[in-house]
Formats: sequence, structure tokens, C-alpha cells
Amino acid sequence: MLDPVRRHSVAMPEALAVRDERGDWTYGDLLAGATAFGAGLHRQGVKPGSRLVFIAPSVPEFVVAYLGIQAAGCVVVPMNTMASRSEIRYVLEDSTAAALIGWHDVGPAARQAADEAGVPFQVLNSMTPGSAQAGELTFEIQERARDDTAAILYTSGTTGRPKGAELTVDALLEAGEISVEARRTSPHDRFATALPLFHIFGQVTVMMAALSAGASMSLQSPFEPVRMLQMIYRDRATVVAGVPTMWNALLRAADGFGPSDFSSVSIAISGGASLPAEVASAFEERFGCPVLEGYGLTETTSLATFADLDRRPKNGCAGAPVPRTEVEIRAADGTALPRDEVGEVWVRGPSVMKGYWRRPDATAEALRDGWFRTGDLARKDAESDVWIVDRLKDLIIRGGYNVYPGEVEEVLYGHPDVVEAAVVGVPDDYYGEEVAAVIVLRDGAKLAGEQITAWARERMSAYKIPRIVRFVPELPKGATGKVLKRSIDPVKLG
Ligand code: AMP
Repeated sequence: MLDPVRRHSVAMPEALAVRDERGDWTYGDLLAGATAFGAGLHRQGVKPGSRLVFIAPSVPEFVVAYLGIQAAGCVVVPMNTMASRSEIRYVLEDSTAAALIGWHDVGPAARQAADEAGVPFQVLNSMTPGSAQAGELTFEIQERARDDTAAILYTSGTTGRPKGAELTVDALLEAGEISVEARRTSPHDRFATALPLFHIFGQVTVMMAALSAGASMSLQSPFEPVRMLQMIYRDRATVVAGVPTMWNALLRAADGFGPSDFSSVSIAISGGASLPAEVASAFEERFGCPVLEGYGLTETTSLATFADLDRRPKNGCAGAPVPRTEVEIRAADGTALPRDEVGEVWVRGPSVMKGYWRRPDATAEALRDGWFRTGDLARKDAESDVWIVDRLKDLIIRGGYNVYPGEVEEVLYGHPDVVEAAVVGVPDDYYGEEVAAVIVLRDGAKLAGEQITAWARERMSAYKIPRIVRFVPELPKGATGKVLKRSIDPVKLG
């Protein structure tokens, strides 16, 4: 995993690799910092192959520690900085983590979860670029087999509780290369992003891609639109990566900037959720560069499709299969469908996950002969471009963050006055989708929506909390008693 960084730090040790408002890291600094971090883990007795849960925002130290964990031969398990105590504890226990590495200001949830799970908590402090001791560079970097698991990213897949998608060294390196090829990234490119690096989209299409190409990345955390625009301008960014909600926010914040302030930007990369056509055209008009859409999942180590750079982008289209990757649209029985017919998206390629960590049944369900079934519905047009039309799986994407209705429902069912709960997504202009809960209360119980929201707030990450709560006498059900979510419309109920 350190291969590209090592290569670039020999060829161009002084080239800028990562920066934020606190400082610049060259490729040489990055290699020194990562190897010193890996050596430190070994000194503390962490064994190669151990899983290390890692919680940090998008700062240069994220990159240093991520690569350092690889240098130590360990498996990085990145988690959302907004995760609640119980969510962190679940991942610590499920992954049988040896330690939790947390950024110094991650908040109390991470420490409490580590305490409860009986796992040591290690603080990741701010670092000064260039401060790694030269002596520590003599540390023997762990040589890893390409099919070793390098990272486990938790995702719910199509159903059930969060599962760890196991990504090998090879899948991550390939995914980085694929991003570079699909977008023709060069060492002269300068990425700018506020995407979370703990999520596969930022981790691969920005971090791994920039490192593979020998390009630089400017990071911001948390996302703040005006500061992001200033960063794009200051660093003369050439590639900006974000989710649809961010393009919207940048458009709204761009008033104080002139038409030539963003002339350095050649592409904006959008992913994580479908990009509304109006947002794409408004952005192109204002910033003078196209927003190119890609589609992918944690299990495909990000990109499966991306807009073809040789053709005019088609608004609303997720693009063509990326290099070395096959994408098929299949019927429910697994047979391939002709063009223009809507079916499930199946993906095969070098960046598809190895399987779900210690979940042979879920792995067998999701992977068949190297093909991964995505749970997304799409069609292919005459040019083999993929148009995502819907999701088979129960998933809400709010501002780029995944919310699994089952997980929210479980928390709501825990409330003593709740008899039944159905969580669904409703369209939202800003976030793309908003989380709504439709609830049946116990006879005689009287609750306000705010009480449900407060209950949820104590138990889960902020972005998962239902912002819309409706009470109904009963939920619509099918013949087998299954709740018919598609016939629930919380907006109408309001
Ligand atoms: P994650 O594993 O968090 O990356 O989430 C993957 C899911 O995000 C996919 O299965 C899709 O449902 C959704 N997704 C990602 N990219 C797009 C896109 N360009 N258009 C529509 N949905 C997308």
C-alpha cells in the first residue's frame, strides 16, 4: 500500500502530497511520517494482521496514520467521526479490534466505546510535517501480500446490520489506479475536497488516486462552503470532489467570487448519490467546468462507472464502466438483460471486495463467480452508459451519508411507547433525501415528534435521526404482514 508513496518520495521527495490550513506535507514527509507511525505501533506491541479501528476527520494526519497502519502490516477499520458510542462498540467487537486510534478531538463516544469493549484507546495527535525522526526510517516496512486484507469498511450492504467489507491491498491499489486512468489524473493535478476520507469515495477517488498519480490533495474538515471555495482558489485546484449536497452548497456560497476565480478547475467529480441534472448544469454555468458523475459502492472499492471523458457528459447518467471493470444489468433470475431494460447492477473487476468479514452467508449472497450484486437498479443505453434509476435495497442517502432504515427502526422500536415504526426517505432539495419515521404508538400513549427525535439523538449518529416524524393508527401491510414502505408517504401524512 505504501508502494506509490515510496515511489514518488524517491522520484520527487519535495513534491507536495497533502495540505490543509495547518501545513504542507511533501511525499518525503508522508513516507517518513507513515513509517514512523507504523514503527510506533510495533513498539507498542501491535501485531501485523491486527484490526485497528480508526476515527479521524479529513486532515493530513488521516493519510499518515492510514498508511502507517499499512506499514505495520495491520488492517485499518475506518469509521465515521459522527458514529455513536454503540455504533463504535459494535464495530470494535465485530472486527475484534486490537485498538481504537482516535483523532485528539473526536469526542467522548470513541473513548467510552473503547472502554466498554475493553480495547485500548490511542490518541492521534496533530503532527508537524517533516518532524518524523530520520532514525525511524530504518524501520523494516512490512511487505504485504497483494491479497492480504488492508481495510475493512463497515456498510449494511443490501440488508441487515453493518457488515465489514474486506478490501485487499490489491483492490485498494487497483481502485486508485482505475480512478487515475478513468480521469487521466497527472502528477500536476491538485485535488481539493471536504469529503470524509473514512468513506470509500474520498478514501479511493481522492486519497488513493492522488497518491497513485503523485498529485497533491488539499483537505478541509468539516465542510464549510465559503472556506472550500477559498481553498479551491488559493490552491488553484484542478479537481474538486464532492457529493451532490456539496455542489448545491458551493453554488449558494459563490456570490462573492468572480467568474475567473475557478479557472484552474478542470473537473468536478460527483458521487455517493444521484446528481440532480439541474444542479449539474447550474454548477457548470457558474464554475465553467462539468460535474462528472461516478457510481460505486464500498464493496466495489468505489468507482464502478464514471463519465467517459471523450464524450460530452450526459446529465443524470452515471457513466461507463471504468477500466478493467465489467458492469451488467441483470434480471432477478440472474440473466443478463438487453439494453434499455431496467434490472439489478452486477459488477466484476479487480477492485471488488474479497467478502464480508466473518459473514460467509452474506458473502455467498452478494458474490457469485466474482460478480457482486449491488442492490441498485439501472439500465444501459445504446452507448453502454449506465443510468441508475432506483434502489432495490432499503437505503436512504442523506447528504451523501447512508442511513439504513432498519437500523433507525431498531432504535425507535426500543422506545417503550412505540409499537411499530417504518423509516423511509423523502425527497429533499438540499440533502437529496431526508429521513422520515412513521410511527404507531401504544394505546393511550401521547408523544410529540420531538420526543422521538430526542430518543434517537441519544442513540445514533446525528445524520440518521428522523427529522420528520408522523404518527398513524396503523402501518399499511401486505399479505405476509410485511410493511409496504412504498405506499407510505410521510409528506402527505403531514
Ligand atoms: P456506499 O457503500 O456508502 O458507497 O453506498 C453505495 C450506494 O450509494 C450505492 O449502492 C448506490 O445506491 C448509491 N450511489 C453511489 N453513487 C451513486 C450515483 N452516482 N447515483 C445514484 N446512486 C449512487
